Amino acid sequence: MQGFEWISTLEEFEEQSARVTDWIAGYLRDNRRYPVLSRAAPGEVTAALPASPPEEGEPFAEIFADFERIIVPGITHWNHPRFFAYFAISAAPVAVLAEALSAALDVNAMLWRTSPAATELEEVVLRWLRELMGLPQTFSGIVYDTASIGGFTALAAAREALGLDIRELGMTARDLPPLRVYITEHTHSHIEKASLALGVGRCNVVAIPVDEEYRMRSDALRAQLLADLKAGMQPMCIVATVGTTSTTSVDPLPEIARVAQEHRCWLHVDAAYAGVAAMLPEHRGRFDGIELADSVVVNPHKWLFVPIDFSALYVKDPEVLRRAFSLVADYLLTPPLDPSTSSGQAKLGVTHGVRNYMDYGLQLGRRFRALKLWFVMRAYGAGKMRDILRGHIALAQEFASWVRAEPNWEILAPHPFSVVCFRHVAPSVAPEDVDDHNLRIVDAVNQTGEAYLSSTRLDGRIAPRLAIGNLRTTREDVLAAWQLLLEAARGLS
Ligand code: PLP
Repeated sequence: MQGFEWISTLEEFEEQSARVTDWIAGYLRDNRRYPVLSRAAPGEVTAALPASPPEEGEPFAEIFADFERIIVPGITHWNHPRFFAYFAISAAPVAVLAEALSAALDVNAMLWRTSPAATELEEVVLRWLRELMGLPQTFSGIVYDTASIGGFTALAAAREALGLDIRELGMTARDLPPLRVYITEHTHSHIEKASLALGVGRCNVVAIPVDEEYRMRSDALRAQLLADLKAGMQPMCIVATVGTTSTTSVDPLPEIARVAQEHRCWLHVDAAYAGVAAMLPEHRGRFDGIELADSVVVNPHKWLFVPIDFSALYVKDPEVLRRAFSLVADYLLTPPLDPSTSSGQAKLGVTHGVRNYMDYGLQLGRRFRALKLWFVMRAYGAGKMRDILRGHIALAQEFASWVRAEPNWEILAPHPFSVVCFRHVAPSVAPEDVDDHNLRIVDAVNQTGEAYLSSTRLDGRIAPRLAIGNLRTTREDVLAAWQLLLEAARGLS
């Protein structure tokens, strides 16, 4: 009890936590009452907050009242069933509880010893996910916050795998060939950012042309690699995507993997959004060839009901990651004695024969994220998770059929998963105004607060985009969004 009283008594904590869980339950039951897109004006939240922190602690009731009064109106409700923008996500109620437990334990899972359960549960849930996705057992997983960090780490491994001793010697004042990374214009921007951070240089990130369905052309990839090799450049990594951000297009993995193998080039597969669809046997074919990748990223925080943040990186050879990142500082060599060293040679050390996740990436401290995926997997079971994914895909296909059947609306890209790109082309709208017209439609829908959509650009054309991924999204929600789109288009034509 001592120490706890610095902030509140245990009785107060019980009362406060009951209040918070009541609020969360109410929120999850009925967050349709909020406008999906926050109506806050720029600076409004800041203006409502004091310029300096309080000198004296404040009562919980006041803090919570301000949470409701200031913070909630400044929230865009990602966990709302009518959130259809970007990639729609959801926090399963059971995972919200897991987050609370994880915060209470406040584990830093940097070493196995600093919480054996955090490390071992991470290994187990990533094995479960690997099995559900049909990835071969040769892949071993690690959890990061985001696919951006997973992608960065994969690229760092690809660089290490070149054997250029960059870890030791760096990249400056050396006679190194330009290292090349191959993407398409539809690859997510984090790959370019990672290339910047790793000293590859933006000019060495090469966009390979795509076909009419926005998929990387493997013939163009092969030609580019050959030209680069001839010019004395060093291919470092090919990045293929299953489920690109704009359209969810699927790069042809078997053909791309063949090119990667021909040139012994690292193949990274970004399946951040669509990876979980590999759990569905009827969609597994879209992932053919993934087994040939060197690394794969998939985000349960996108489409597997795990609250942000949780991204899984799978690598074929975790040793490459270790080679790239392992660096054990003296202050991490703590008792107990390393049990793997024989007596007489006993020394302080990190425990061997177990995984110390700090060795496999940039960060030392790591949250206990495995808990929330474990709760979700156990609460839903694979069967229910598959049903929900199937439901989302079916809703997206139905939405596409409404768009297709409506005069003056058109579908702009294939829609294999739960995202549809489309647009309105009314005869009353001049061709040069069609982009603007579609942006206005999306804005008009979003301003209603009833639904929230985003847009992208395809072949130079603005494409409104509807993404389904929330646990509680129903057919009525999708229908409501469609009605709002129709009304907005009517009003603006
Ligand atoms: N890869 C793809 C295909 C994405 O669509 C996104 C984000 O939407 C990312 C990577 C980046 O994900 P994260 O926000 O986890 O870094």
